[in-house]
Order: sequence, then C-alpha cells, then structure tokens
Amino acid sequence: MRIPVSGPSITAREIGYVTDAVTNAWYASHNIYHEKFERAFAEHLGLAHAIALPSCTSAIHLSLLALGIGPGDEVVVPELTWIATAAPISQVGALPIFADVDPETWCLSAAAFEAAITPRTRAVIPVDLYGGMPDWSAIQAIAAAHDIAIIEDAAEGVGARYESRPAGSFGATGVFSFHGSKTLTTGEGGLVATDDPALHQRMLFLRDHGRGPGDRMFHNAEVAYKYKMSSMQAALGLAQLERLPELIEGKRRVFEHYRRRLQGRSGLRLNAEPPGVFNSYWMVTVVWDHASGWKKEVLMQEMDRKGIDCRPIFYPLSGIPAYAAHPFAANAAERNPVAYDISARGLNLPSGLNLTEDEIDYVADVLLNLFESM
Ligand SMILES: *Cc1c(COP(=O)(O)O)cnc(C)c1O
Repeated sequence: MRIPVSGPSITAREIGYVTDAVTNAWYASHNIYHEKFERAFAEHLGLAHAIALPSCTSAIHLSLLALGIGPGDEVVVPELTWIATAAPISQVGALPIFADVDPETWCLSAAAFEAAITPRTRAVIPVDLYGGMPDWSAIQAIAAAHDIAIIEDAAEGVGARYESRPAGSFGATGVFSFHGSKTLTTGEGGLVATDDPALHQRMLFLRDHGRGPGDRMFHNAEVAYKYKMSSMQAALGLAQLERLPELIEGKRRVFEHYRRRLQGRSGLRLNAEPPGVFNSYWMVTVVWDHASGWKKEVLMQEMDRKGIDCRPIFYPLSGIPAYAAHPFAANAAERNPVAYDISARGLNLPSGLNLTEDEIDYVADVLLNLFESM
C-alpha cells in the first residue's frame, strides 16, 4: 500500500463532459466548453474575464507581458513558492526579487514586500501558498501607494477566501493551475482572470500568435505565443468547477482530521487560518519545532519507507541551483531568514481528495511515532 501525496476527485460528471467534448466539440462547436468554463470561472471570481490556458506558468507569462514588464524591471515574489511563480519573470528579461514570508501564513510578508521595493519595481506576485492567504489588505495598500501591479498566483488557492473575496480576485490579474496535483484539475491546464478589458484584450492577442480574436487572415501583427487548452480539458475543468464546493469541503475534511490528530502534538504546527481567512488547504503542511532536530529530507525518507508519499516544503528560490547567478543568491539566507528557517523543517502530507480517514490516521500515527522516537 502506498499513499500518494495528492490526487483528484473524478466522478461521472467529469467523464460525461469530457466524453461529450471529444464527441461533439469540433468544427463550429470547438469552443463551447471553453466558453462555458471561462464564463463560469469569471463568475466564480466576480470578475469580468477569464482565459483558459495550458498552464499557470503561461498565465503568469501573459500577465507580465500584458503589463509591459521586461528588461530593467523588478518583480517581487515570495521566497517560498514553486519556481513557476518566478521563471516567467526571468523569461521576460526582468529580475525576480525574492522577499521573505510571514512566519504564520508562510505567504509573502507585507513588510518584506515593502522593504523590497525600489524605483524599478513594477509588479508583485503574492502566492496563496498551500491554499492559505497573505495579508491582502496590507499588500494591496502598499502596491497601490507605489503604483505596483499585483499578479495573484492563486495556483494553489482555488476556493480560498479572504474577507469573503475569492482567491484570484485580488490583483490586476489572478492566475490558476489545473495541474493533476491541484484541487481543481484538468490534467494540465491554467487560467488567467482579470477585470481590466485592456489587459484581457492584450492577453487574448498575445496567446494566439499576435492576432486579434476571430482574425482568420494570416497577417500576424506581432511575434507572440500559442497558449491554449483543448476542449477536453475545458470540459473537465467545467465539471470540476461545478463541483468546487464539494472539492473544497473534501480538502477541509482532510485538514480537519489531520488537525485533530496532530495540532500541538510533539511541537507540530499546521497551516494557518487567521481571522477573516477561509483556507482551502490544497496541501496539509506540517512544520515542527527546532528542538526535534529532524531534517525534512530525512523525515521524508522515513515516511517513504512506511509507504507515505510526502513533499518537502518549497526550498527558498534564491538558494536553488537555478538562481545561483542571481545577484542576491550570496546573502539570501540573511535577507530572508523566515523562509530559510521554515523551509528546513516542514513537509506536505498526503492531501489527495480520495484519502480515507483510516489513511490519515495511519499517516498521523507514523509521523507522531517518528517524532516521539527522536
Ligand atoms: C502549480 C503551481 C504553479 C504552476 O502551475 P502550472 O500549471 O504547472 O504551470 C505556479 N505557482 C504555484 C504556486 C504552483 O503551485
């Protein structure tokens, strides 16, 4: 028996929609599922526009391009995130500035964001890490005061809320991932949402080889990109979106069961849900006291030996080989001590939507035994 770290919930609804798409969504009907999915997603966010894409990485890339960000510009990102948050910044020729995270939410710290601002700062990409939320009011106020655009990386945050507003609705654009490990999945896929008609038009143009929607002449105005998802993926996404409340309830049930078994035991701490936040708990994450002495890589190996598939908390981006040449790589740990500290002592626990309570009990027992044996 092996317990996977993540995994989707697929029902007859998903299978029915995908079957219908592969059967009927061709010729004049090739866009029917994209249109339904995009409209429903924009509605879920309370925004005017959504564009379905092949990935969240492409959504961040398009957001940066549409905002006109390029060489000479700086974009602030949290230290603790997947590299996809930062890679598109490098790809457009701008410089990612890694800022420290908040010790409670593990998301971008508003104070660290403010301290990272220079005259070159054009945008910030806060991340709704593991389904949690940063201090959006503070981040929005700082960004507005300095005329900095917000791209919200809600890849892990679908279904979360901050003061009743949904994850993905806090920036000039909000971006999502539908990768197979994510709460709402299309296998691979992503989406960018915005309320701004100019950004929307520009992104539609850039994602279709530099031509306007509906243009059937091969007279492209710019060299651009080809970022689309298939109708089968859009059909899968629509079915998943219609089940979003159920998916989030599933994630919260998994978290609640872990919480009852682990919170406060052996110096363990789980994902935070501060007042005003509704956490969608994409990945249940455990952070332990310094005193226990466990290294995350070793603990992960021990869990693996018991058939439990975990993931390390993200490594601080400024410390990974991909950013070895970054101007701040040399003294990154001093610049961002909270991220470096937390990253060394945390794991994502199995959080798949098909996880049973018995499996959660088993994971909790193994983990507590390891901590008690140390
Ligand atoms: C998964 C993820 C992405 C990238 O999503 P893709 O769809 O794989 O491009 C970006 N940011 C964060 C925080 C993620 O977790």
